[in-house]
Formats: sequence, C-alpha cells, structure tokens
Amino acid sequence: MSNLNITDRTYSLPPLGNNPSSQAQGTSPGSFSPLPKIASGRAGRWTFASADTPGMPVPSDKTAWDFMPLDWVLKPGFEDNYEQAAAWEAPTGFQPITQLESARLGVVTPEMKRVAEREPHLTAEQVRDEVASGRMIIPANKVHLGYKLDPMCIGRAGKTKINANMGASPVSSGTEEEIEKLHWAEKWGADTVMDLSTGGTIDECRQAIIQNSTVPIGTVPIYSMIIARRLEDLDDASILQMLRHQARQGVDYFTIHAGVLFEHLQYVKERLIGIVSRGGSLLAKWMILHKQQNPMYVLWDDICDIMREYDVSFSIGDGLRPGGLADATDRAQLAELCTLGELTERAWRKGLQVMVEGPGHVPFDQIEFNMKLQRRLCHGAPFYVLGPLVTDIFPGYDHITSCIGATAAGFHGASMLCYVTPKEHLGLPKKDDVKQGCIAYKIAAHAADVALGVPGTRDRDDELTKARAALNWEKHFELAFDPEFARLLHDEDLDVDTDFCAMCGHDWCSVRISKEIVEFASGKTADYAWDHAKQTAALSPEQLAVLEKRGVLSPDEIHKLASKTKKAVGAEASKADCHSDYVDGEQARLR
Ligand code: SF4
Repeated sequence: MSNLNITDRTYSLPPLGNNPSSQAQGTSPGSFSPLPKIASGRAGRWTFASADTPGMPVPSDKTAWDFMPLDWVLKPGFEDNYEQAAAWEAPTGFQPITQLESARLGVVTPEMKRVAEREPHLTAEQVRDEVASGRMIIPANKVHLGYKLDPMCIGRAGKTKINANMGASPVSSGTEEEIEKLHWAEKWGADTVMDLSTGGTIDECRQAIIQNSTVPIGTVPIYSMIIARRLEDLDDASILQMLRHQARQGVDYFTIHAGVLFEHLQYVKERLIGIVSRGGSLLAKWMILHKQQNPMYVLWDDICDIMREYDVSFSIGDGLRPGGLADATDRAQLAELCTLGELTERAWRKGLQVMVEGPGHVPFDQIEFNMKLQRRLCHGAPFYVLGPLVTDIFPGYDHITSCIGATAAGFHGASMLCYVTPKEHLGLPKKDDVKQGCIAYKIAAHAADVALGVPGTRDRDDELTKARAALNWEKHFELAFDPEFARLLHDEDLDVDTDFCAMCGHDWCSVRISKEIVEFASGKTADYAWDHAKQTAALSPEQLAVLEKRGVLSPDEIHKLASKTKKAVGAEASKADCHSDYVDGEQARLR
C-alpha cells in the first residue's frame, strides 16, 4: 500500500474575469483571465490581458499622453492629471488631422463612432480614450475614407483582428487576380489586407485594391522604392517621394523598417537564418554598402510629416524578426524592439497612430514574454504579429504551426495577427491558401477573445452548441463559420438531416441519447426544436467539386448526391444499421 496521501481532492477556481457570454449562458464560470481594465491613460494599461506568469515584464506606466507634441502646453494644475484633453492647450490655430490628434482634443470622430458600433462592448468615448492613450489605432487614410473603407480598430480593448497578405510577385499573379483575392480575403474575415506586391503592374494593382476594399490596406513601401532601381541607388528623395505617392493613393498603414540599426547588424552573424524580413534584409544590405545608418531611421521625422497629412498609421516593421526557433528572442530581435519603442514615442509626438510589428518564429514557451516585453517597451501600442510559428518542420502546414502561436500571442498581448497560409516559405498563396490562412487565424483570434472574456464573444459558440444539442442541422450550419464546407462534409456521408450523423450512427449518438433523457436540459431549446428528418438540399457544383477533390467518393456516389433533388431520390432499398427510428431507409441512408 502506498504511503502517498491522494485523498485531498479539494480545489479552488482561479479568480474569474468577464463571462464572454452576454447572457451568462451555460455552466462555464466565465473567463479565467483577470477582469479587464478599460480606462483612459495609465489606469487602463492592462486592458484585456492574460494573468502574468511570474517573471513577465509588467506594463509600462507611460502612454501616448507622455509623448505629446512639444508645442502643446500642459495647463497649470494638471501636472498629476494630464491624461485628458482638458489638461492640454494645442498651439493656436491647430487643426487635428489624425485620429490621435482628435482624441487628444477630446473629439469623438465619426470613425470612432463606427468602431464603437462594430465593437459593442465599447462606447465611442472609450474608443477615443484608447486612441488617445496610444493603445488603439483606427487605420483610415482620409483618401480611402472617400472610397469604401469601413473604419475598424486595432487594439487590446477591441476584439483581436487578423490581416491577410497578398500581392503580385514578378513570377505570379496580376491586378485582376489580386482584386479577386482581396474580395476572397474579405469574405473569409480578413480585418485588414496588406498589398505586398513586388512585381507586375504594382502601382495600378495598389490603386485598384484601395478603391475596391472595405478593409484598411497596408503596404511595405520599400518594395516599390527599389523597383526599376538598384538598391544602392535608394536615396532620401526617392524614399520620401514614394511615401508621399502611396499616402496620396490612400494606403492606410505603412510598414517601415526603421528599427534595424547599423549597430544591430553585428548580432545577426550568429543566427541560423540571418534576416528573413524582406525590408530588413534590403535595408541591412544598403547600410553595409553605404556604411551609413538606416535611412528610414534617419528620415523618421520627415516620414511622420508626410504620413500625418493623410493620417496614415505606422506599422513599425520588425526587420530583425527571427526566421527560425533557434533565432527567437535573441539580441538582434530585442535590440530592434528597444528601437521600435523609441520610434513609437517619436511618432506619437508627431501625432501619428502607431502599431508595432513582431515575430515570426517563436517557441511556444517564449510567446508570453515576447508579448509582454513589447507591451512594456512600446507603452501599450498595439502589437501586430506574424504567427508566430511554434515549430519549423511542417512546411505546407504552417497555417497550423503558426495558428497555434497566434492563439497564444492573441491571448497574451497581440492586437492583430498576420495570417500565414499553407504556402508560407514555399510560394505565393493562391485563392484556397488565402481561405485556409484566414480561417486558421479567425480561429486563433476568436479563441483568444473568448479566453480573455471579451463580452459577447462566446454568444455564437453557445448558440451553435444549442443547435448541435438539438440536432438541428440547418441552424448548426447557419451558425458555422464556413457553412458550405460543414454541410458538404455532413452530406458526404448522409444526405438527410436527422437525429444522428454518420460519425457514430443512430444507436451510438450520445447527443440523441442525451436529448431523450428527460431530466437533461440538453437539446430541448424551443428555438432549435425540430420534429422530423429532412431531405437536404442538393449540394452546389462547387461543393461537389470539393468532394470530388477529397477523392473519397466514387463518381457513382457523387452522382447520387447530385441527383437527390430529383423526385425519385435514387434510393437503394437497403436500410442502414444505424438509421433513425423515425426516418425510413430511403431518406436516412448511410452512404
Ligand atoms: S452521431 Fe455522434 S457526431 Fe453525430 S451528432 Fe450524434 S454524437 Fe454527434
């Protein structure tokens, strides 16, 4: 007999945060994350946050209110209470251009109102205060607002966002295909889109994307700066000219790799894979060729002035992000992150909205540290991360390796997750890769929001659970993120909606059995009740094509699915073993 005492089975729940269900439905006690702190200035620096693992960097006690333009005057008596519009006097005749400047003046803009409509847990005043504190941005170029842009926000007080990358390369794709991909990415939930074109009719493509998009568009302007020009010929005039041109076109945010400094390059030598950011590697080469500092860093104030005119937001690039697990959280990456903090402060002083870009490839255990270090060094400016991938050995499946890291990043501090598609490291994503990447990242962002207790984020999950419990297939698919795909997978085996599916069959269907136990509430929601089996509608040609591609059905079986709307349903006489009690074999056959 063991001497171990294993009889203590007491437990206590951790402190609870918000319930992510707006009706507090179900038996779940709510989020295990701390209660959110949505408040202006330093008081709100925790916002929605995971509980800090011991040893994690605490948030900065500074916000954008600590980096006001030098010509704004703090009124006497407000020295200890300066995080409000009433504390400041702008220069005579000052006209706000950027969302940050309006917020600093206490103005609620139409874009802030729209953001509050899209984030119902926030008021327009809270949106304004988050923008003023620098923890939220509304990337909305004034030119793009004149087209179809629907303003959205990126920040920890809002829901986690996802970005889809696209763009023509010298070897693949063109404007028409990119517009199609844009609409495709919007359909699958991309909150912003980055045009990373490096070839084709790049200028025309960018213009077309801006004019056709309802979501903010970001670019990495250095790509266009070196088209038809040798890298070594890149100079101040060409940099500023291209930024001005793209700002005028209506780009909402620019990735500028100004944080890669000459003195950081020594740290790259020991890396397994050097510099994997295109912008970072180009600028590193330029610095080595010219033996000069990064021109983006040197020109920072001029760049701010150009961007302010149109309210282009910064996405300060991480040119030294790690490209493999072995290079994560190294000196090069962290030295650059310190510079990104400095650039954030300088941009805020110029009235610019700022988010900061982050890695990349990061082992799972290092993700929280990376998120919380950025929160500290960049004073809560939104963090926009690529993945991160948590392992390197699954090329072809990097939407999955990175979606795991992105969930952790969203939970621990990132505000926007840049998708990774199955084509990452391998080629330019095609339409289906864009869909796979978007879906993987919608999963990551949504999972993070539920875990953080963002109000209302679990409502759709709860509704789908109720529909599933009631075996109400129509509602189940209606609430699914990808109804068509869920439907075709169901109908691949069973083209009747009845009180079980082909996974377990009738006799083993625990959901059906639970529903029949009268003491259980499960499956008895009146809204979702249904009383008979239904023949499903025929699958569309697109759905049938997907089934054919899956290669699990014979042409004959596919023919049967396609013909089921015909009066004679092509029914075989045999009755499947697991048929429903109240559906005959013709209707409920198991294929
Ligand atoms: S058969 Fe199995 S998988 Fe299908 S509804 Fe019932 S329990 Fe769920």
